[in-house]
Amino acid sequence: MPDAPSTDFYAAFVKSGPGSFLASRLGLPQPPVLRRYQAGKPALAGPVLLGGKGRLVEPVRELLADYDLVVNNGGARGAEKLGGAVFDATGITNIDDLKSLYEFFGPQIRSLGNSARLVVLGTTPELIEDLDEHIVQRALEGFTRSVAKELRDGATAQLVYVHPDAATGASGLASTLRFLLSGKSAYVDAQVIRITDKDAAAPADWDKPLAGKVALVTGAARGIGATIAEVLSRDGAHVIAADIPAAGEALSEVANKVGGTALPLDVTAPDAGAKIAELVKSRHSGLDIVVNNAGITRDKLLANMDEGKWNSVMAVNLKAPKQLVDDLLAAGALNEGGSVVDVSSIAGIAGNRGQTNYGATKAGVIGIVDAYTPVLAKKNITINAVAPGFIETAMTAAIPLATRQAGRLMNSLQQGGQTVDVAETIAYFAAPASAAVTGNVVRVCGQSLLGA
Ligand code: NAD
Repeated sequence: MPDAPSTDFYAAFVKSGPGSFLASRLGLPQPPVLRRYQAGKPALAGPVLLGGKGRLVEPVRELLADYDLVVNNGGARGAEKLGGAVFDATGITNIDDLKSLYEFFGPQIRSLGNSARLVVLGTTPELIEDLDEHIVQRALEGFTRSVAKELRDGATAQLVYVHPDAATGASGLASTLRFLLSGKSAYVDAQVIRITDKDAAAPADWDKPLAGKVALVTGAARGIGATIAEVLSRDGAHVIAADIPAAGEALSEVANKVGGTALPLDVTAPDAGAKIAELVKSRHSGLDIVVNNAGITRDKLLANMDEGKWNSVMAVNLKAPKQLVDDLLAAGALNEGGSVVDVSSIAGIAGNRGQTNYGATKAGVIGIVDAYTPVLAKKNITINAVAPGFIETAMTAAIPLATRQAGRLMNSLQQGGQTVDVAETIAYFAAPASAAVTGNVVRVCGQSLLGA
Protein backbone atom coordinates (compact mmCIF):
# COMPACT_ATOMS: atom_id res chain seq x y z
CA MET A 1 0.00 0.00 0.00
CA PRO A 2 1.56 3.35 -0.97
CA ASP A 3 2.37 5.76 1.85
CA ALA A 4 0.08 8.73 2.29
CA PRO A 5 1.48 11.74 0.46
CA SER A 6 3.82 13.62 2.76
CA THR A 7 2.46 16.96 3.87
CA ASP A 8 5.71 17.59 5.70
CA PHE A 9 7.42 20.53 4.03
CA TYR A 10 10.42 20.21 6.37
CA ALA A 11 11.03 16.55 5.44
CA ALA A 12 10.87 17.37 1.74
CA PHE A 13 13.22 20.34 2.19
CA VAL A 14 15.95 18.45 4.09
CA LYS A 15 15.88 15.72 1.45
CA SER A 16 16.61 18.26 -1.32
CA GLY A 17 20.28 18.97 -2.26
CA PRO A 18 20.62 22.42 -0.68
CA GLY A 19 18.31 21.47 2.21
CA SER A 20 20.36 18.40 3.08
CA PHE A 21 23.59 20.46 2.97
CA LEU A 22 22.10 23.13 5.23
CA ALA A 23 20.60 20.60 7.65
CA SER A 24 23.89 18.76 8.14
CA ARG A 25 25.83 22.05 8.59
CA LEU A 26 23.33 23.31 11.14
CA GLY A 27 22.89 19.96 12.90
CA LEU A 28 19.15 19.88 12.09
CA PRO A 29 17.29 16.54 12.17
CA GLN A 30 17.21 14.71 8.84
CA PRO A 31 14.30 12.23 9.05
CA PRO A 32 15.14 8.87 7.44
CA VAL A 33 12.82 7.27 4.89
CA LEU A 34 11.24 4.32 6.72
CA ARG A 35 11.06 0.98 4.91
CA ARG A 36 7.44 -0.22 4.95
CA TYR A 37 5.77 -3.54 4.04
CA GLN A 38 5.29 -4.35 0.37
CA ALA A 39 3.72 -7.65 -0.72
CA GLY A 40 6.22 -9.91 -2.43
CA LYS A 41 9.25 -7.96 -1.17
CA PRO A 42 11.59 -9.41 1.52
CA ALA A 43 10.48 -8.59 5.07
CA LEU A 44 13.82 -6.92 5.82
CA ALA A 45 16.54 -5.39 3.66
CA GLY A 46 19.31 -7.70 4.91
CA PRO A 47 20.06 -10.84 6.94
CA VAL A 48 19.05 -11.29 10.57
CA LEU A 49 21.70 -12.12 13.15
CA LEU A 50 20.43 -14.53 15.80
CA GLY A 51 22.24 -14.98 19.10
CA GLY A 52 21.91 -15.67 22.82
CA LYS A 53 21.83 -18.76 24.95
CA GLY A 54 18.29 -19.04 26.32
CA ARG A 55 15.39 -21.43 25.83
CA LEU A 56 14.12 -19.59 22.73
CA VAL A 57 17.06 -19.38 20.35
CA GLU A 58 16.49 -22.82 18.79
CA PRO A 59 12.69 -22.50 18.43
CA VAL A 60 13.18 -19.04 16.91
CA ARG A 61 15.64 -20.38 14.38
CA GLU A 62 12.92 -22.81 13.26
CA LEU A 63 10.13 -20.21 13.33
CA LEU A 64 12.16 -17.93 11.06
CA ALA A 65 13.38 -20.65 8.69
CA ASP A 66 12.31 -18.56 5.67
CA TYR A 67 14.40 -15.56 6.82
CA ASP A 68 18.03 -15.07 5.80
CA LEU A 69 19.47 -15.97 9.24
CA VAL A 70 23.06 -15.60 10.38
CA VAL A 71 23.53 -17.72 13.49
CA ASN A 72 27.27 -17.84 14.12
CA ASN A 73 27.39 -14.60 16.12
CA GLY A 74 29.99 -13.42 13.65
CA GLY A 75 28.13 -10.28 12.63
CA ALA A 76 27.17 -9.21 9.13
CA ARG A 77 28.79 -11.04 6.20
CA GLY A 78 31.48 -8.87 4.68
CA ALA A 79 30.19 -5.43 3.80
CA GLU A 80 26.54 -6.55 3.90
CA LYS A 81 24.35 -4.47 6.23
CA LEU A 82 22.20 -6.32 8.75
CA GLY A 83 18.42 -6.27 8.35
CA GLY A 84 18.01 -7.18 12.01
CA ALA A 85 19.46 -8.80 15.12
CA VAL A 86 17.54 -10.99 17.57
CA PHE A 87 19.02 -11.85 20.96
CA ASP A 88 17.58 -14.51 23.22
CA ALA A 89 18.16 -13.07 26.70
CA THR A 90 15.99 -15.64 28.54
CA GLY A 91 19.18 -17.37 29.72
CA ILE A 92 20.29 -14.26 31.65
CA THR A 93 19.75 -14.94 35.36
CA ASN A 94 22.25 -12.66 37.15
CA ILE A 95 23.66 -9.16 36.81
CA ASP A 96 26.99 -10.26 35.36
CA ASP A 97 25.22 -12.07 32.52
CA LEU A 98 23.66 -8.79 31.36
CA LYS A 99 27.03 -8.12 29.77
CA SER A 100 26.10 -10.55 27.00
CA LEU A 101 23.73 -7.85 25.67
CA TYR A 102 26.62 -5.41 25.47
CA GLU A 103 28.81 -8.04 23.82
CA PHE A 104 26.20 -9.12 21.26
CA PHE A 105 24.69 -5.79 20.18
CA GLY A 106 27.63 -3.42 20.67
CA PRO A 107 29.70 -4.61 17.69
CA GLN A 108 26.60 -4.73 15.42
CA ILE A 109 25.33 -1.16 15.80
CA ARG A 110 27.48 0.16 12.95
CA SER A 111 26.53 -2.76 10.67
CA LEU A 112 22.79 -2.05 10.75
CA GLY A 113 21.06 -1.15 7.48
CA ASN A 114 18.10 1.21 6.89
CA SER A 115 15.09 0.36 9.09
CA ALA A 116 16.98 -2.49 10.74
CA ARG A 117 15.30 -4.26 13.66
CA LEU A 118 16.79 -5.16 17.03
CA VAL A 119 14.70 -7.57 19.11
CA VAL A 120 15.49 -8.71 22.64
CA LEU A 121 13.65 -11.80 23.93
CA GLY A 122 13.20 -12.12 27.69
CA THR A 123 11.07 -13.89 30.29
CA THR A 124 8.07 -12.00 31.74
CA PRO A 125 9.61 -10.60 34.99
CA GLU A 126 6.45 -10.59 37.11
CA LEU A 127 6.07 -14.35 36.53
CA ILE A 128 9.62 -15.21 37.69
CA GLU A 129 10.09 -16.53 41.27
CA ASP A 130 13.87 -16.22 41.51
CA LEU A 131 14.74 -12.72 42.76
CA ASP A 132 17.96 -12.21 40.77
CA GLU A 133 16.42 -13.45 37.55
CA HIS A 134 13.37 -11.21 38.05
CA ILE A 135 15.61 -8.17 38.46
CA VAL A 136 17.82 -8.78 35.44
CA GLN A 137 14.90 -9.64 33.18
CA ARG A 138 13.32 -6.33 34.19
CA ALA A 139 16.63 -4.63 33.32
CA LEU A 140 16.17 -5.63 29.67
CA GLU A 141 13.56 -2.89 29.33
CA GLY A 142 15.99 -0.08 30.16
CA PHE A 143 18.58 -1.53 27.78
CA THR A 144 16.11 -1.80 24.90
CA ARG A 145 14.56 1.64 25.33
CA SER A 146 18.01 3.24 25.58
CA VAL A 147 19.58 1.50 22.60
CA ALA A 148 16.49 2.48 20.57
CA LYS A 149 17.38 6.12 21.21
CA GLU A 150 20.89 5.56 19.83
CA LEU A 151 19.88 3.93 16.56
CA ARG A 152 19.94 5.82 13.25
CA ASP A 153 18.41 5.57 9.80
CA GLY A 154 14.98 4.23 10.78
CA ALA A 155 16.29 1.34 12.89
CA THR A 156 14.23 0.32 15.94
CA ALA A 157 14.60 -1.86 19.03
CA GLN A 158 11.88 -3.84 20.83
CA LEU A 159 11.59 -6.18 23.80
CA VAL A 160 9.40 -9.28 23.81
CA TYR A 161 8.70 -10.98 27.12
CA VAL A 162 7.68 -14.61 26.75
CA HIS A 163 5.77 -16.47 29.48
CA PRO A 164 8.11 -18.83 31.41
CA ASP A 165 5.83 -21.80 30.66
CA ALA A 166 5.51 -21.14 26.91
CA ALA A 167 5.82 -24.39 25.00
CA THR A 168 9.29 -25.16 23.69
CA GLY A 169 8.06 -24.73 20.10
CA ALA A 170 7.18 -21.12 21.05
CA SER A 171 4.50 -21.00 18.34
CA GLY A 172 2.82 -18.08 20.17
CA LEU A 173 5.89 -15.97 19.42
CA ALA A 174 5.86 -16.36 15.63
CA SER A 175 3.37 -13.62 14.69
CA THR A 176 5.10 -11.10 16.97
CA LEU A 177 8.55 -11.79 15.53
CA ARG A 178 7.22 -11.55 11.98
CA PHE A 179 5.55 -8.24 12.76
CA LEU A 180 8.63 -6.78 14.44
CA LEU A 181 11.05 -8.16 11.83
CA SER A 182 9.31 -6.41 8.94
CA GLY A 183 8.32 -3.03 7.54
CA LYS A 184 4.90 -3.48 9.19
CA SER A 185 6.39 -2.17 12.44
CA ALA A 186 8.09 0.84 10.77
CA TYR A 187 6.84 3.41 13.33
CA VAL A 188 6.76 1.11 16.39
CA ASP A 189 9.86 1.75 18.48
CA ALA A 190 11.09 0.80 21.98
CA GLN A 191 7.98 -1.19 22.81
CA VAL A 192 7.54 -4.08 25.21
CA ILE A 193 5.19 -6.90 24.16
CA ARG A 194 4.15 -9.74 26.47
CA ILE A 195 3.37 -13.20 25.08
CA THR A 196 1.31 -15.73 27.04
CA ASP A 197 1.95 -19.49 27.18
CA LYS A 198 -0.80 -20.20 24.65
CA ASP A 199 0.09 -22.05 21.47
CA ALA A 200 -0.90 -20.48 18.15
CA ALA A 201 -1.33 -21.92 14.69
CA ALA A 202 0.53 -20.31 11.80
CA PRO A 203 -1.73 -19.19 8.92
CA ALA A 204 -1.63 -21.11 5.64
CA ASP A 205 -0.13 -17.95 4.11
CA TRP A 206 1.65 -15.26 6.18
CA ASP A 207 0.56 -12.70 3.53
CA LYS A 208 -3.14 -13.54 4.22
CA PRO A 209 -3.19 -14.00 8.01
CA LEU A 210 -6.89 -12.97 8.29
CA ALA A 211 -8.26 -15.19 5.52
CA GLY A 212 -11.91 -16.08 6.11
CA LYS A 213 -12.36 -13.70 9.07
CA VAL A 214 -15.07 -11.06 9.48
CA ALA A 215 -13.93 -7.74 10.95
CA LEU A 216 -15.81 -4.67 12.20
CA VAL A 217 -13.98 -1.33 12.02
CA THR A 218 -15.67 1.69 13.61
CA GLY A 219 -14.88 5.21 12.39
CA ALA A 220 -13.87 3.71 9.04
CA ALA A 221 -14.96 6.53 6.70
CA ARG A 222 -11.63 8.36 6.83
CA GLY A 223 -8.24 8.74 8.51
CA ILE A 224 -6.79 5.85 10.46
CA GLY A 225 -10.06 3.85 10.30
CA ALA A 226 -10.16 3.88 6.48
CA THR A 227 -6.60 2.54 6.37
CA ILE A 228 -7.40 -0.14 8.98
CA ALA A 229 -10.22 -1.31 6.68
CA GLU A 230 -7.78 -1.48 3.75
CA VAL A 231 -5.08 -3.37 5.65
CA LEU A 232 -7.47 -5.91 7.23
CA SER A 233 -8.97 -6.54 3.81
CA ARG A 234 -5.50 -6.86 2.21
CA ASP A 235 -4.80 -9.51 4.87
CA GLY A 236 -7.89 -11.49 3.81
CA ALA A 237 -10.70 -10.31 6.10
CA HIS A 238 -14.23 -9.30 5.05
CA VAL A 239 -14.56 -5.80 6.53
CA ILE A 240 -17.72 -4.21 7.90
CA ALA A 241 -16.92 -0.52 7.81
CA ALA A 242 -19.03 1.50 10.28
CA ASP A 243 -19.27 5.27 10.69
CA ILE A 244 -21.87 7.94 11.48
CA PRO A 245 -24.67 8.25 8.91
CA ALA A 246 -23.43 11.77 7.97
CA ALA A 247 -20.19 10.19 6.66
CA GLY A 248 -22.28 8.02 4.27
CA GLU A 249 -20.61 8.76 0.93
CA ALA A 250 -17.02 8.47 2.19
CA LEU A 251 -18.01 5.31 4.05
CA SER A 252 -19.45 3.70 0.91
CA GLU A 253 -16.27 4.54 -0.98
CA VAL A 254 -14.12 2.82 1.67
CA ALA A 255 -16.42 -0.23 1.77
CA ASN A 256 -16.43 -0.50 -2.05
CA LYS A 257 -12.66 -0.17 -2.25
CA VAL A 258 -12.14 -3.08 0.15
CA GLY A 259 -15.03 -5.21 -1.14
CA GLY A 260 -16.66 -4.96 2.28
CA THR A 261 -19.94 -3.81 3.80
CA ALA A 262 -20.80 -0.20 4.68
CA LEU A 263 -22.71 0.14 7.95
CA PRO A 264 -23.94 3.67 8.77
CA LEU A 265 -24.03 3.60 12.55
CA ASP A 266 -23.45 5.95 15.48
CA VAL A 267 -21.49 3.86 17.99
CA THR A 268 -23.11 5.78 20.86
CA ALA A 269 -26.65 4.75 19.82
CA PRO A 270 -28.22 2.43 22.42
CA ASP A 271 -28.95 -0.21 19.75
CA ALA A 272 -25.51 -0.06 18.04
CA GLY A 273 -24.38 -3.45 19.37
CA ALA A 274 -27.73 -5.08 18.56
CA LYS A 275 -27.60 -3.81 14.95
CA ILE A 276 -24.10 -5.18 14.41
CA ALA A 277 -25.04 -8.49 16.03
CA GLU A 278 -28.06 -8.80 13.74
CA LEU A 279 -25.94 -8.08 10.64
CA VAL A 280 -23.15 -10.54 11.44
CA LYS A 281 -25.52 -13.30 12.48
CA SER A 282 -27.75 -12.99 9.41
CA ARG A 283 -25.04 -12.45 6.77
CA HIS A 284 -21.98 -14.14 8.31
CA SER A 285 -21.33 -16.70 10.99
CA GLY A 286 -20.58 -14.07 13.64
CA LEU A 287 -17.79 -11.57 14.07
CA ASP A 288 -14.11 -12.46 14.54
CA ILE A 289 -12.44 -9.06 14.88
CA VAL A 290 -13.68 -5.84 16.49
CA VAL A 291 -11.64 -2.67 16.02
CA ASN A 292 -12.90 0.18 18.20
CA ASN A 293 -11.31 3.05 16.27
CA ALA A 294 -14.04 5.75 16.23
CA GLY A 295 -12.87 8.65 18.34
CA ILE A 296 -13.31 12.40 18.73
CA THR A 297 -11.49 15.31 20.36
CA ARG A 298 -13.23 18.33 21.93
CA ASP A 299 -10.23 20.20 23.34
CA LYS A 300 -10.50 22.97 25.92
CA LEU A 301 -8.62 23.80 29.12
CA LEU A 302 -10.48 22.19 32.00
CA ALA A 303 -11.46 25.55 33.52
CA ASN A 304 -13.22 26.51 30.27
CA MET A 305 -14.65 23.16 29.25
CA ASP A 306 -18.43 22.94 28.91
CA GLU A 307 -20.25 19.80 29.97
CA GLY A 308 -21.15 18.90 26.40
CA LYS A 309 -17.47 18.57 25.40
CA TRP A 310 -16.80 16.33 28.38
CA ASN A 311 -19.85 14.14 27.81
CA SER A 312 -19.47 13.65 24.05
CA VAL A 313 -15.82 12.56 24.31
CA MET A 314 -16.70 10.10 27.11
CA ALA A 315 -19.58 8.68 25.07
CA VAL A 316 -17.67 8.03 21.83
CA ASN A 317 -14.18 7.18 23.11
CA LEU A 318 -14.86 5.18 26.27
CA LYS A 319 -18.51 4.18 26.81
CA ALA A 320 -19.02 2.93 23.26
CA PRO A 321 -15.98 0.59 23.01
CA LYS A 322 -16.95 -1.09 26.30
CA GLN A 323 -20.67 -1.26 25.53
CA LEU A 324 -20.07 -2.66 22.06
CA VAL A 325 -18.05 -5.59 23.37
CA ASP A 326 -20.59 -6.22 26.17
CA ASP A 327 -23.49 -6.20 23.70
CA LEU A 328 -21.76 -8.39 21.12
CA LEU A 329 -20.83 -10.93 23.81
CA ALA A 330 -24.37 -10.91 25.24
CA ALA A 331 -25.78 -11.52 21.76
CA GLY A 332 -23.32 -14.37 21.15
CA ALA A 333 -22.05 -12.50 18.09
CA LEU A 334 -18.33 -12.44 18.92
CA ASN A 335 -16.71 -15.72 17.93
CA GLU A 336 -14.39 -17.84 20.08
CA GLY A 337 -10.81 -17.33 18.94
CA GLY A 338 -11.62 -13.75 18.00
CA SER A 339 -9.93 -10.48 18.87
CA VAL A 340 -10.76 -6.99 20.07
CA VAL A 341 -8.40 -4.12 19.30
CA ASP A 342 -8.99 -0.70 20.85
CA VAL A 343 -7.41 2.60 19.86
CA SER A 344 -5.90 4.56 22.73
CA SER A 345 -3.43 7.47 22.35
CA ILE A 346 -0.18 8.67 23.86
CA ALA A 347 -2.35 11.47 25.30
CA GLY A 348 -3.82 8.76 27.55
CA ILE A 349 -0.32 7.80 28.71
CA ALA A 350 1.55 11.11 28.92
CA GLY A 351 -1.42 13.46 29.32
CA ASN A 352 -1.94 16.51 27.12
CA ARG A 353 -2.78 20.11 27.94
CA GLY A 354 -6.31 20.95 26.82
CA GLN A 355 -7.26 17.27 26.64
CA THR A 356 -8.40 16.26 30.15
CA ASN A 357 -11.53 14.70 28.64
CA TYR A 358 -9.68 12.95 25.80
CA GLY A 359 -6.73 11.85 27.97
CA ALA A 360 -9.12 10.34 30.52
CA THR A 361 -10.92 8.33 27.84
CA LYS A 362 -7.73 7.10 26.19
CA ALA A 363 -6.30 5.97 29.56
CA GLY A 364 -9.70 4.39 30.21
CA VAL A 365 -9.27 2.40 27.00
CA ILE A 366 -6.09 0.94 28.50
CA GLY A 367 -8.22 0.13 31.56
CA ILE A 368 -10.65 -1.75 29.29
CA VAL A 369 -7.75 -3.86 27.99
CA ASP A 370 -6.51 -4.60 31.53
CA ALA A 371 -9.97 -5.42 32.89
CA TYR A 372 -11.23 -7.49 29.95
CA THR A 373 -8.08 -9.54 29.28
CA PRO A 374 -8.96 -12.31 31.80
CA VAL A 375 -12.70 -12.09 31.04
CA LEU A 376 -12.23 -12.56 27.30
CA ALA A 377 -9.46 -15.15 27.74
CA LYS A 378 -12.13 -17.54 29.05
CA LYS A 379 -13.67 -17.37 25.56
CA ASN A 380 -10.31 -17.54 23.79
CA ILE A 381 -10.69 -13.92 22.68
CA THR A 382 -7.73 -11.54 22.83
CA ILE A 383 -7.87 -7.83 23.62
CA ASN A 384 -5.08 -5.33 22.97
CA ALA A 385 -4.73 -1.64 22.24
CA VAL A 386 -2.62 0.58 20.04
CA ALA A 387 -1.65 4.03 21.30
CA PRO A 388 -0.77 6.21 18.30
CA GLY A 389 1.53 9.19 18.66
CA PHE A 390 1.72 11.83 15.93
CA ILE A 391 0.06 10.32 12.86
CA GLU A 392 -0.34 12.28 9.60
CA THR A 393 -4.13 12.67 9.27
CA ALA A 394 -6.69 15.44 8.72
CA MET A 395 -6.83 15.66 12.54
CA THR A 396 -3.12 16.45 12.91
CA ALA A 397 -2.99 18.61 9.74
CA ALA A 398 -5.27 21.04 11.60
CA ILE A 399 -2.70 21.59 14.39
CA PRO A 400 -0.86 24.97 14.13
CA LEU A 401 2.39 24.64 12.12
CA ALA A 402 4.99 25.09 14.91
CA THR A 403 3.26 22.64 17.27
CA ARG A 404 2.75 20.24 14.37
CA GLN A 405 6.42 20.35 13.42
CA ALA A 406 7.46 19.77 17.04
CA GLY A 407 5.06 16.81 17.25
CA ARG A 408 6.63 15.30 14.14
CA LEU A 409 10.22 15.66 15.22
CA MET A 410 10.03 14.85 18.94
CA ASN A 411 10.59 11.12 18.60
CA SER A 412 13.48 8.79 17.85
CA LEU A 413 12.49 8.45 14.16
CA GLN A 414 12.20 12.26 13.76
CA GLN A 415 8.95 12.19 11.77
CA GLY A 416 5.21 11.63 12.02
CA GLY A 417 3.77 8.17 11.42
CA GLN A 418 1.45 7.16 8.58
CA THR A 419 -2.04 5.76 9.12
CA VAL A 420 -0.78 2.47 7.71
CA ASP A 421 1.62 2.13 10.67
CA VAL A 422 -1.30 2.07 13.11
CA ALA A 423 -3.28 -0.24 10.83
CA GLU A 424 -0.44 -2.78 10.52
CA THR A 425 -0.14 -2.99 14.32
CA ILE A 426 -3.89 -3.57 14.59
CA ALA A 427 -3.75 -6.29 11.92
CA TYR A 428 -0.97 -8.02 13.87
CA PHE A 429 -3.07 -8.01 17.07
CA ALA A 430 -6.17 -9.14 15.18
CA ALA A 431 -4.64 -12.24 13.58
CA PRO A 432 -5.48 -15.74 14.86
CA ALA A 433 -1.70 -16.36 14.81
CA SER A 434 -1.54 -13.78 17.64
CA ALA A 435 -3.74 -15.91 19.94
CA ALA A 436 -0.95 -15.74 22.57
CA VAL A 437 -0.83 -11.94 22.42
CA THR A 438 -3.35 -10.38 24.79
CA GLY A 439 -3.45 -7.58 27.36
CA ASN A 440 -0.88 -5.43 25.54
CA VAL A 441 -0.77 -1.73 24.74
CA VAL A 442 1.66 -0.96 21.94
CA ARG A 443 2.50 2.63 21.14
CA VAL A 444 2.84 3.53 17.49
CA CYS A 445 4.79 6.71 18.05
CA GLY A 446 8.40 6.30 16.87
CA GLN A 447 9.45 6.39 20.56
CA SER A 448 7.90 9.78 21.22
CA LEU A 449 9.61 11.83 23.90
CA LEU A 450 6.19 12.11 25.55
CA GLY A 451 5.22 9.43 28.05
CA ALA A 452 7.00 6.32 29.26
P1 NAD B 1 -10.64 11.11 12.24
O1 NAD B 1 -11.39 12.24 12.89
O2 NAD B 1 -9.96 11.39 10.93
O3 NAD B 1 -11.61 9.86 12.05
C1 NAD B 1 -12.46 9.40 13.08
C2 NAD B 1 -13.68 8.77 12.44
O4 NAD B 1 -14.55 8.35 13.52
C3 NAD B 1 -14.48 9.74 11.57
O5 NAD B 1 -14.76 9.16 10.32
C4 NAD B 1 -15.75 9.97 12.38
O6 NAD B 1 -16.90 10.24 11.57
C5 NAD B 1 -15.88 8.66 13.15
N1 NAD B 1 -16.75 8.81 14.31
C6 NAD B 1 -16.76 9.83 15.21
N2 NAD B 1 -17.78 9.66 16.08
C7 NAD B 1 -18.42 8.51 15.73
C8 NAD B 1 -19.55 7.83 16.25
N3 NAD B 1 -20.24 8.30 17.29
N4 NAD B 1 -19.94 6.68 15.64
C9 NAD B 1 -19.25 6.20 14.56
N5 NAD B 1 -18.18 6.82 14.04
C10 NAD B 1 -17.77 7.96 14.61
O7 NAD B 1 -9.58 10.62 13.34
P2 NAD B 1 -8.26 9.73 13.19
O8 NAD B 1 -7.09 10.62 13.30
O9 NAD B 1 -8.36 8.81 12.04
O10 NAD B 1 -8.35 8.91 14.57
C11 NAD B 1 -8.82 7.57 14.67
C12 NAD B 1 -8.58 7.09 16.09
O11 NAD B 1 -7.18 7.22 16.40
C13 NAD B 1 -9.31 7.90 17.15
O12 NAD B 1 -9.76 7.02 18.18
C14 NAD B 1 -8.24 8.84 17.68
O13 NAD B 1 -8.52 9.26 18.98
C15 NAD B 1 -7.02 7.96 17.59
N6 NAD B 1 -5.74 8.69 17.55
C16 NAD B 1 -5.36 9.46 16.46
C17 NAD B 1 -4.12 10.10 16.46
C18 NAD B 1 -3.63 10.91 15.29
O14 NAD B 1 -2.48 11.40 15.33
N7 NAD B 1 -4.39 11.10 14.24
C19 NAD B 1 -3.29 9.98 17.57
C20 NAD B 1 -3.70 9.21 18.65
C21 NAD B 1 -4.92 8.55 18.62
